[in-house]
Amino acid sequence: MVAEGLSRVTFSRVTTDGATPRGKASARSSVVTPKMRSDSKRTEPRPGRGFRVPGGRALDGSIVPPEDSVRGQDYGCPSCGSQLVVRGGSETRVRRHFAHPRSTACSAESVKHLMGKEIARLAIERAMGGHALTLEIRCNSCSSPFGVPFPTCDAVALEYTESSGRIVDVMALEGSLPAVAVEVLVTHAVDEAKAGELRAPWLEVSADDLLTDPMRWRVGQHRLKTKTCENCRTIAQCRAELLSQHEIELDASYRADVTLCGSCRAPTLFFSWDSTSAGAAPPDPRPRGLRNIWTLAARAYGWWNTCLECEDMLHFSALRAEDYQHLPPLRE
Ligand SMILES: [Zn+2]
Ligand SMILES: [Zn+2]
Ligand SMILES: [Zn+2]
Repeated sequence: MVAEGLSRVTFSRVTTDGATPRGKASARSSVVTPKMRSDSKRTEPRPGRGFRVPGGRALDGSIVPPEDSVRGQDYGCPSCGSQLVVRGGSETRVRRHFAHPRSTACSAESVKHLMGKEIARLAIERAMGGHALTLEIRCNSCSSPFGVPFPTCDAVALEYTESSGRIVDVMALEGSLPAVAVEVLVTHAVDEAKAGELRAPWLEVSADDLLTDPMRWRVGQHRLKTKTCENCRTIAQCRAELLSQHEIELDASYRADVTLCGSCRAPTLFFSWDSTSAGAAPPDPRPRGLRNIWTLAARAYGWWNTCLECEDMLHFSALRAEDYQHLPPLRE
């Protein structure tokens, strides 16, 4: 399924002023293969030497990956236009690559950044055409990665100037309004100053990731609407419903987690709080469900969470994704 995305994302001509008339997609100009990634470690410019670049511009304006290059044909640097040399390949021990001549004006980073922006733009255009462009986000709550579709948009622009005056690498627009700003990371991450000034929701994705899989972006920093995975959102909703169903107004000193009662199997709430001394009474106002119970094991009274449904004592275990697929609907 990755290959499907890879084979269709193609580069179009990027003119020196940054305008990007759409080029005809050709199978040969498909650019991104996982192989390109492993080369990224070797692209740092060495003083006085040339460097490798992840793609070369063919005469028809498309950018091709080294694997698809043809010996004897001319390829230019996508960024500065310098003539590239095709090196390595199956008959040698070195993987085929584009060698860029020594340059002070150009660098592997600038080429990668340019290509990353171009891939992002093309991927968004493909998404507008109905192809799946997935953003892989790390959940704010449970830290697991999850995928969301790229937000709806109807236009895309490179080097877009936001109302704040900030220029973003790629802007997806909807109804000519900024929808999502995309920053392509090569060496300089979005800093606090920029993050504070960006008006539109934004995300950062590395050029290496874009080169590896143009239709599934591993999002780094971001300020997108969706921050938590569906599992965590469901649990949060379940928690809110339980609080309202049992008319509990939770004091700020408490935390409430959803758990399943071991006795009646109903979803219920487990409360915890910061306590300065062990055995101290929970702060007021105490949520219903917390009860002072004498237990044989402790031979003493202690504060326990009890089920909001059946009032049995609770032992906490976090609700898991597979649990709540089978949850009975909550009582009205
Ligand atoms: Zn160059
Ligand atoms: Zn989560
Ligand atoms: Zn119960």
